[in-house]
Parts: sequence; C-alpha cells; structure tokens
Amino acid sequence: MKTIGYAAHGVSEELVPYHFERRELRSNDVSIEILFSGICHSDLHTINGDWGDQPYPLIPGHEIIGKVVGVGADVKTFKVGDHVGVGCMVDSCQECKQCKGHEEQFCSNGFTATYGSKDRVDGSITQGGYSKHIVVREEFVVNVPKQLDISKAAPILCAGITTYSPLKKWNVTKGTRVGVIGLGGLGHMGVKLAVAMGAEVTVITRSKDKLESAKAIGAKGILVSTDASAMEKASNSFDFILDTVPVKHDFNIYTPLLDIDGSLVVVGQIGAMEEPQTLPLIFGRRRISGSLIGGVKETQEVLDFCAEHGILPEVETITALEINKAWESLQKSNPAHRYVIDMNSLNL
Ligand code: NAP
Ligand code: ZN
Repeated sequence: MKTIGYAAHGVSEELVPYHFERRELRSNDVSIEILFSGICHSDLHTINGDWGDQPYPLIPGHEIIGKVVGVGADVKTFKVGDHVGVGCMVDSCQECKQCKGHEEQFCSNGFTATYGSKDRVDGSITQGGYSKHIVVREEFVVNVPKQLDISKAAPILCAGITTYSPLKKWNVTKGTRVGVIGLGGLGHMGVKLAVAMGAEVTVITRSKDKLESAKAIGAKGILVSTDASAMEKASNSFDFILDTVPVKHDFNIYTPLLDIDGSLVVVGQIGAMEEPQTLPLIFGRRRISGSLIGGVKETQEVLDFCAEHGILPEVETITALEINKAWESLQKSNPAHRYVIDMNSLNL
C-alpha cells in the first residue's frame, strides 16, 4: 500500500514528507489508518543518534491511535471500523518465557520496535506512527475503549504504559507517597495514574513554573529540585519516586528523599548516569531500579484503567507541518503536556 509519513533522512535532520509502501496484509495482520500520533522524547533520542546508528530514512512515532481499514484472513479480535492503538512494539518471538508471561518488552529474542527495527518475516525496516497508515500483527494491536476521546488518548500507548507499569509493579496504592521527577509527557501521565491509584503525589521539578500544571492534574504540590533547603527538608518523605528525566543526571540528589526501603525507578535516561553514591542506599536500604514500557496485555489494562477513571493525557494537537517546531519545543521549553499530531493534516 502506498502511503506517506514524516521521516528523518539522517542524524538530527529535520523531518520531511516521505512517500513509502506499507506491506501487503499477512493473514494475522491488521491494517490501520492512523488518526492521531503522539510525540515521545524517545523519538528525538532515536533520530538524534543518542541510541546509536539508525536505518534512515526513518519515520518515528510509537503512540498510535487509528481506525481499522482491513484485516487478514485469520484475524479474530478486530474488524474494519474499530478504533485501535499501537505502542512501542509490533512483534516479538511469542515463544520465550517473557512473551508467554505477557512481558514482550523483555522478549529473550528481542522485540521488534514500532520503528527502526527489522521486520521478523521479510527483514524490512519498521516505520512508525508519524504516518497515514500502518500494518501490525494482531497480537500487538490494542482496543481503544469507547469512553476515551481518540484525539487525546494516543500518549497512553507509551507515556501511559511506561508510567503505569512501574506504579503497579511497586504496588502504589492508597496513601503511597509518590514523587515524579520531571513534569513532561511521561511525568504528567505518571501523576494522573498515581493519583487515580490513591497515592499522594508530589512533582519534583526544576523550577516553580510548573506548580499550577502539577496541581491541575492532581498533585498535592511540587518540590523544586534546585532548592537545596527544600530538598533537605524533604528527606525520607517518599515511598516511591519515578524518574523521567531524559538526559544524563545525578540521582544522588534524589535518593535521600526516599524513606527506608523506598525505591527510585528510572524510566527516563537510557544510558549513562552520574556515579551513584551508595551511602543513601546502604543507610536506608533504598533501591534504584529501572523499568521498560510494559507488555501488550498491560497496555490494554492501562487503556481500560484510563477509561474507567476518566483519565486523558494533557494534549496540544498539532498538524504534520508543526512536527519540527514541536520537537524544538520539547528540547527547549519542556512543556508539561504531550504534542499529538492530527493525521488528518497529512495527505497523500
Ligand atoms: P519530555 O516530555 O521531554 O519530559 C521530560 C521532563 O524532564 C521535562 O519536562 C523536564 O521536567 C525534565 N527535564 C528535562 N531536561 C532535564 C534536565 N536536564 N534535568 C532535569 N530534568 C530535566 O520527555 P518524555 O517524553 O516524558 O520522556 C522522558 C524520557 O523517558 C526520555 O528520555 C524517553 O526516551 C524516556 N522513555 C523511556 C521509556 C521506558 O520504557 N523506560 C519509555 C518512553 C520514554 P521539569 O521541567 O519538570 O524539570
Ligand atoms: Zn515513547
């Protein structure tokens, strides 16, 4: 199928319209017309070469909401017209312990990413959601509950699942004292989800500028990480901290904020960090851990959870022509929301 997307043709290059072909439907495939596509900071890392060489031209995007326009002969779960979602993965081996345990993100044979991976069947390079159409095997497509506004739901497919999964894994519940570092795309979803789980949530941010945004989404307040005396006063006051900072940073300023046995879970920076200090870890049995997106089943679970609790991402809708400007804003202005591309603005 001939279609169009926005691709980068080299490291750190601007995204430009790119005509390409989506594969013919295999028997277990769902063909989707993409309606909305979220912009994740991971898209920037990938294209800017932060995570190594990439196969260009490359179309990013792994927060996809669309409408089913075709199904393969063996597809059972979806039919033409359904509203569906696709997140960060489009395939995995489906046979290893992790895949069988619904944690395809840890597939022993490596999952196939929504963009920049080799297709497991024909070896072609996968292309992401900043495009008009996508073809994905049934097992990696999720249902978008009717209660969710499709123009806002796309960020649940990455920002939502990436924050929901650790909140659940670490048993965040009523009364848990949660800190979320960085109020951006992931951070603001982490706040909303933790609040819905009954937690007492504080946003840990670099300036006072985001106080209103934090309160508007249910946080009880902010802790300004550049204010040494406020940080000192907040020692031992969190059970769980979610770190969404997208660059190399020093987590030694955050670990003393944890109470005894507390955990700091990194979902932001993937790569080097400043050298960790073991003192706050040893004197408090505090833990530092990491977490990667979530499985397909859990992605369906977070969509259903959002529908049930009336949670939607804070979204600024843009046209395809505004993608490069939005990327610049993510790097320079750190908005407390997600940009979502309305794919109606992109035509063949
Ligand atoms: P984002 O929307 O740009 O938000 C990041 C936030 O971090 C900013 O709004 C800012 O909040 C804070 N920040 C930015 N630069 C900082 C710095 N130099 N020092 C301290 N804080 C800083 O990004 P995102 O889309 O939420 O993604 C965040 C990170 O998660 C990215 O690195 C992305 O690749 C990663 N990610 C990981 C997974 C996973 O599975 N683990 C999945 C998706 C994304 P304040 O202004 O409030 O300080
Ligand atoms: Zn993402």
